[in-house]
Amino acid sequence: MEKKKFRKIGILSSGGDAPGMSAVIKSVTCSAIARGVEVVGIIGGYAGLINEDIRPLSIMDVSGIIAQGGTYLKSARCNEFKYEEGMQKAIATCKKFDIDGIVAIGGDGTFRGATDLSIRGVPCIGIPGTIDNDITATDYTIGYDTAMNTIVRIGDQLRDTSESHARCCVMEVMGRDAGYIAIETGIALNAVGVALIETPFDKEALFEKIIKMRELGQRSFMVIVAEGLGTEFGEALTKEIEERTGVESRFVRPAHIVRGGTPTLRDRSLAGVMGDKAVDLLLNGVSDVVICSRKNQIVATDIKYALIVDRMFKNKLKDGDLDAFSAEELESMKALCEERRAYFNDMYDIMKTIGC
Ligand code: ADP
Repeated sequence: MEKKKFRKIGILSSGGDAPGMSAVIKSVTCSAIARGVEVVGIIGGYAGLINEDIRPLSIMDVSGIIAQGGTYLKSARCNEFKYEEGMQKAIATCKKFDIDGIVAIGGDGTFRGATDLSIRGVPCIGIPGTIDNDITATDYTIGYDTAMNTIVRIGDQLRDTSESHARCCVMEVMGRDAGYIAIETGIALNAVGVALIETPFDKEALFEKIIKMRELGQRSFMVIVAEGLGTEFGEALTKEIEERTGVESRFVRPAHIVRGGTPTLRDRSLAGVMGDKAVDLLLNGVSDVVICSRKNQIVATDIKYALIVDRMFKNKLKDGDLDAFSAEELESMKALCEERRAYFNDMYDIMKTIGC
């Protein structure tokens, strides 16, 4: 088959925003223009494709956006795109604006849209942009590092006031159904306990440790709970800590504060590398993949593989999900899920050992 000649590519950001999305937009734009390809920005995710909200992007448009939080191209959730009629409108827009391929930044919903477009003839490549780090196929997503640094800053400030008043602070952190943010920030904030979905929560050990540390003279305590445990969980735990240990306790939910802010070095650098890789692959005929960081290598993973390994890890597989994969692929999926489970178990054990 003759290799498709790319003259123009589109970029969009979709789903929940994350710091570093603008840095990806900059990277993709500069990388494509350097390779002689025109770039257009699709505004507001897949809604922009349906509404024909398309704008040309030049190097000058993006040269100053690397440090911007949020996303320069805006984001939205677009239900219409999930249906055939909406999808066909999006494809018609690509034809009308001569968009030969798309780089889509977002989470798993965004990748579902990207694979749907790819199989209908518009080649797409996904870049993982979400603070939650909940894309199992990649070790890191863009925005994760920035969000964690923000939480650590907030946690340090909470520690100051907890120390003054001899209190325990229970902080609920974002992450959707994933506990990556919770366990890493828990260790970084010297949390005495972390509650996650991925590991059984040892509440009694937490109460015992708080009582023991208070006897030794410790004034303040930090407990981190993952958002995925539900809105009631953190507040109920706060009351229980106070009742069981006698330590006055407060519940804090920073929520969307951690979604904003200027991206860290790590997120900017990942954005630069992933954006460039996405353009390189797209122009070389690769599509329907998501760019992943695995063991310090940047690799392309089939989107369907990435979506299903996610479901496997979250125990959400549906009938027939595994039918299309070879025995070798299934083995590698299972190994990846094991690796992630071992990560959570190890991190939880470390937190229990050193957190105080
Ligand atoms: P995220 O990408 O952060 O997971 P969402 O799940 O909200 O965020 O998905 C973002 C957008 O991707 C949706 O608003 C929709 O336009 C598109 N999308 C989500 N799921 C699908 C699907 N099954 N098929 C096609 N497009 C989808």
